[in-house]
Amino acid sequence: MLNQQALALEFDLRRWMRWRPPSLRMNAIDEARFEDACGPARVHHFVASGLLALLVYNLFLLVDARMIPDVYPQALTMRLFIFSPVALLMLLIGVRFNGFIARLPRPILEGTLMMTGVVAALHMGWLLLHSNSPYAGMYTAGLVPITIYGNLVQRFRFRYALFFSTVVMATCLTCVWARADRVNPYDVFDVPLALLVGIIAVYTLAMNYRFELEERRRFVWQLRAQALHQELSASQARLDDLSRRDPLTGVPNRRHVDAYLRQQWGRLGAADEHLALLLMDVDHFKAYNDRYGHPAGDQCLKHVAQVLQQSVPEEQGCVARWGGEEFIVVLPGARLPAAMKTAQSLCAAVRELGLRHEGSPTCGSVSISVGVAVIRPALASSSDSIDSLIAQADAALYRAKAGGRNRAEAALSPVSC
Ligand code: GH3
Ligand code: MG
Ligand code: MG
Repeated sequence: MLNQQALALEFDLRRWMRWRPPSLRMNAIDEARFEDACGPARVHHFVASGLLALLVYNLFLLVDARMIPDVYPQALTMRLFIFSPVALLMLLIGVRFNGFIARLPRPILEGTLMMTGVVAALHMGWLLLHSNSPYAGMYTAGLVPITIYGNLVQRFRFRYALFFSTVVMATCLTCVWARADRVNPYDVFDVPLALLVGIIAVYTLAMNYRFELEERRRFVWQLRAQALHQELSASQARLDDLSRRDPLTGVPNRRHVDAYLRQQWGRLGAADEHLALLLMDVDHFKAYNDRYGHPAGDQCLKHVAQVLQQSVPEEQGCVARWGGEEFIVVLPGARLPAAMKTAQSLCAAVRELGLRHEGSPTCGSVSISVGVAVIRPALASSSDSIDSLIAQADAALYRAKAGGRNRAEAALSPVSC
């Protein structure tokens, strides 16, 4: 039992020792995308929080005047006349050329930003080293807002924040060490203050790391969501296409042509143009199946569909399988003579395919019959509809069949032409 507990403890310890913080690194492509995506917003953030920080930085002159009055002129010169104009210029450039700055190589952008914090910390160190004020030791606490500025307000990227915090700590320790022999009635605070700066640096670094990690994770999730959305849209488009295509012949199916007809009806009605509809049926197709078999019948339908589609260019109209061995052609803008011409050319095209049909009493090869109806949707009465147009074409097809097949017939009473 004891052995088991010891083993479990050892296992736990090994697991803990193997633990590493989650990496901030992404692959090179995602990294480049990440930087591109957050560049402009990051420059905007630099500018906004930079302005706030600059205000606070200059307000610190009040502290300088009270705690280190002997080096106040130097503090004033640095804060008001050197640091502030340079920082303001940088902020102005950030506002004016956001796009350009956002595209700068990251080390230049992040490095420049980090230098603002480093300069502020070093300047404070310089003042501390040169001041003989009895309160100068307590002035170390001023490194706390500087640390917060870099790690949390400006949120330097973690690598830069780590370097910056190291500089802050080094400045702090150097000052404590270099001032050890100076008159200091509050020297009891030296170590606690240095410890305070150190603790704040560690805490803010941990938060900085967490923020960056979350930002990167959010970005990766966003990328995944985008990819998923694109995949979904593509498969939706594929599904939509599949649902509108006849699986045997590959031409559009009835669902597609129904939608197409409705759309053209509205469009041609508004433009006051004609709409022609050709309904066609393969002659003696049952006999074809009986003689050559169903698979051969399927092949025959494919050939017929193909030749119909080749004969009617997409810009001229739409060819679809209406069902069974029937096909439909919609010709927007075609009047009766043009529609009849197309119908006859389709009859000829199928005949010229030369598919042997020895069981056909009409001719020795596969043929079609076509019924043609034309309408002017703008003049359509309330009883005229797509259905009545189809019924007219169907009646014409019946007459073509009755008249001997392998021919095209026009509707007897054209609807609203
Ligand atoms: P008509 O000249 O009067 O149109 O005579 P028909 O034999 O073509 O007409 P009928 O309606 O009697 O027969 C149609 C045949 O078409 C029957 C059916 O088995 C066949 N058919 C329908 N769809 C398919 C299909 O997808 N593949 C095959 N191979 N045959 C089909
Ligand atoms: Mg039929
Ligand atoms: Mg038939």
